[in-house]
Amino acid sequence: MNAVVVGGGIVGLSSAYELAVRGVDVVVCEKGSIGSGSTERSAGGIRTQFSTPVNVDLSLESIRVWESFDERFGTPIDYRTNGYLFLARTAETAATFESTVEMQNERGVPSEILDPEQAANRCGGIDPAEFVAATYSPMDGFADPHLALQAYARAAAEEGVDVRTKTPVVDVRRNGDRVTGVETPGGRLEAEVVINAAGPWAREIAAMAGIDLPIAPKRRQIAVVEPETPVPSTDPLTVDLDSGSYFRPERDGDALVGGHFADADPDRDPDAFATSMDFEWAVDALEAVADWTSYFGPESAIKRGWAGLYAVTPDDNAILEETVPGLVTAAGFSGHGFQHAPATGRIVAELVTEGEATLVDVAALSSDRFGTGDERTETNVV
Ligand SMILES: Cc1cc2nc3c(=O)[nH]c(=O)nc-3n(C[C@H](O)[C@H](O)[C@H](O)COP(=O)(O)OP(=O)(O)OC[C@H]3O[C@@H](n4cnc5c(N)ncnc54)[C@H](O)[C@@H]3O)c2cc1C
Repeated sequence: MNAVVVGGGIVGLSSAYELAVRGVDVVVCEKGSIGSGSTERSAGGIRTQFSTPVNVDLSLESIRVWESFDERFGTPIDYRTNGYLFLARTAETAATFESTVEMQNERGVPSEILDPEQAANRCGGIDPAEFVAATYSPMDGFADPHLALQAYARAAAEEGVDVRTKTPVVDVRRNGDRVTGVETPGGRLEAEVVINAAGPWAREIAAMAGIDLPIAPKRRQIAVVEPETPVPSTDPLTVDLDSGSYFRPERDGDALVGGHFADADPDRDPDAFATSMDFEWAVDALEAVADWTSYFGPESAIKRGWAGLYAVTPDDNAILEETVPGLVTAAGFSGHGFQHAPATGRIVAELVTEGEATLVDVAALSSDRFGTGDERTETNVV
């Protein structure tokens, strides 16, 4: 059996690796270089604290891989299980915690609801007076996206995957209902199955096959900040759910700070958006975290930053399915595709080689949910 994977980000490379492990001949077409998409612009967050069961399950299956990644792939990825701390300022936000944590616990996640003082024991810099409740899971954490991506690329190549950089897919071939391959400037590649793992470009790839998928590229930024008071390396990734601002420890007391604060959130052209950080945004992001923690006093310095794209669907959940015969879609991860890549790769391989996914029930991620009322929006979005 042979497959073409479109996209050399972490979803495409994890899929290519898992397909090759199962004996499939795989070519990865990457129009730029490995990591030129969203993956290397991510914060590397890995968490089980989602509001929809399918995302919790994808996290649990992915964490099985993340926690054994060093041994499996022979590469340290700076995986740190510092936990995630979600903070609520309003009773309305706190009211969602009970059912969400109950659902997470039922699936095996050791998350718990904390009062503000208990939350401050997890993250010493927060001002408990600003919040009414929190949730915490020690299973959550973060890793280095660059190291993880390069490890998948190496492992895929070692399994015989033909990774072609500077190889754009310019068309997807169909014979009736069935997708039969792709066109590249270097010629046609016939394939029994094509995997659309093109991240923020996935809508374009789907359109080449005559399919409309609601995946919108949305710009998100991160600042690397040297805080006035160093952030302890053991602090969790901490999110003020009501303002959307978050931070996590980076190295040597520095922090990654993020969040989206503007009302406007236009779709971006993934080939022509500003990849550098806006200074005004960074000032807003710093003021936002300074509002609820003691770390980011006036002596804090913005060291650098960048912008990337979330590939967002209407309900903030991925599309993971065989969309038409011969075309598997693994895209639209809405800001959580880095962490879900290990499980996604295995599910893609199951869909291709077995015709169905058994690792996780991904029925909720089929594209025919849109517009039917069956969408279940992911509300724990960072
Ligand atoms: C600021 C920021 C913070 C984030 N933080 C987190 C986080 O903490 N945790 C988390 O899980 N996720 C996070 N994400 C989201 C995460 O980065 C993405 O969900 C994930 O990287 C998606 O991986 P991917 O492989 O699908 O896409 P990408 O990494 O974008 O890869 C897609 C690839 O497809 C290639 N491509 C496109 N079109 C073509 C074509 N026609 N032919 C050939 N190749 C093509 C592109 O060049 C690209 O390399 C964050 C994203 C951003 C922007």
